[in-house]
Amino acid sequence: MTAFDYTATPMRVRFGAGRLGEIAEEVDRLGLARVLVLSTPGHRQLAVDAAQLLGERAAGVHAGAVMHVPIASVEQARSAALSLRADCSLAIGGGSTIGLAKALALQADLPYLAVPTTYSGSEMTPVWGITQDGRKTTGRDPRVLPASVVYDPQLTESLPISTSVTSGINALAHAVEALYAPDTNPMVSLMAAEGARLIVSSLPAIAAHPRDPEARADALQGSWLCGLCLGGTTMALHHKLCHVLGGSFDLPHAPTHTVVLPHVLAYNAPAALAALAALRSALNAEDPALGLWELAGRLGAPRSLAELGLPHDALGAVVAEVGGNPYPNPRPVDHESLLALLERAWSGAAPTG
Ligand code: NAD
Repeated sequence: MTAFDYTATPMRVRFGAGRLGEIAEEVDRLGLARVLVLSTPGHRQLAVDAAQLLGERAAGVHAGAVMHVPIASVEQARSAALSLRADCSLAIGGGSTIGLAKALALQADLPYLAVPTTYSGSEMTPVWGITQDGRKTTGRDPRVLPASVVYDPQLTESLPISTSVTSGINALAHAVEALYAPDTNPMVSLMAAEGARLIVSSLPAIAAHPRDPEARADALQGSWLCGLCLGGTTMALHHKLCHVLGGSFDLPHAPTHTVVLPHVLAYNAPAALAALAALRSALNAEDPALGLWELAGRLGAPRSLAELGLPHDALGAVVAEVGGNPYPNPRPVDHESLLALLERAWSGAAPTG
C-alpha cells in the first residue's frame, strides 16, 4: 500500500443557483459585521448588487482589483478597508479579485468570503501572489484561504464562451498535474477525475448554450474540485511554465494554460500511467493530450503561443527561466526536450511526447 498525507481545507462551501442571496446570512454566521466588497473595475455593478444584498453589513465597495495583484492595488484596498472600518472583505469575481482579497488577508489580517465567477479555483488554495517592480512573488499561507465560499452558477452565465473555455481548461490543468503530483493521494485522485470529467463534459454544452444552467453548474462544480486539487498538491512543469509565461512575458493566464497543457501532458504521459488512465476516462479519449488539443480546437480556443503574442525569439529565455528553478515533474526535463515542447506549443502543432 502506498503511504500518503491528506489535509482537508477548513472553509465552508455553499453551492447552488441563486445562493448569492445568502451572503448576508453567511456574514452573520461568521460573526462579521462590516464587509468591504471587492471587484474589478469592469464588474463594479456586480459588487454594488452584492453590497445591496448585504444591507447594513456593507461597509463599502472597492472596484480596484487588477490581474496579478499589483502592490499598489493592495495598498489602495487596504486604505479603503481601514477608512471604512471593514472587518472583512467579500471578493466577487475571478482569480484577479480573489487574489486581492488574499493579499488583504495576508497583509492586513482581513478575513474574506469568496464568490467566484470564473473557473480559476484560486478560492480553494492557500497560494497568494503579489506583483511588485514587474515581478510576481507567490507563497503558500493558510491565512489566505477564505472563511466561506458561495458558488452561484447563475453568476457565470455572463462569462463569454471564449473565457469560459480557457478558464475551464485552466481548471483542468490543476486536475491533470494533481493526478501525477508527488504528493497526490486517493482523495485528490477522486476529486481530480471527477473535476476533469465535469469540466470536459460541460464546456461543449456551454459553447453551444452559454446560459445552460446545468452546464454552468457542472463547470463550476468541476472548478471547485479542480481548485481543491491545486490547493492540496504540488504542481509540476505545466504550472511552472505558465507561471513564467504569465509573470515574465505577460501572457494572459487562462489562455496560456489552454495552449500549454496538451503539450506538457503529452510529454509527461509515459511517466504518469495512472494519471493517464484516469484522464482517458475523463476525456473519453485514448490519447488524452491529443483529445484535449482537439477539444480546444473544436471550442475555438487558442492553440499557439504565437497567437497569444509570444515572440519566437523569447523561447530560449523561457527555457532558461524554467530550467533555473527546480520543480517536481514525473518525467525529467532537459534543455532540448523543453525547447522542443515549447516550439510545438508556439507554433500550434499537435502534441507529441
Ligand atoms: P480574471 O479574474 O482576471 O477574470 C478573467 C476575465 O473574466 C476578466 O476579463 C473578467 O472581467 C472576466 N469575468 C470574470 N467573471 C465574469 C463574469 N461572471 N461575467 C463576465 N465576465 C467575467 O482571471 P481568472 O482567469 O479568473 O484568474 C486569473 C488570475 O488568478 C491570475 O492572476 C492567476 O495567477 C490567479 N490564479 C491564482 C490561483 C491561486 O491559487 N492563487 C489559482 C488560479 C488563478
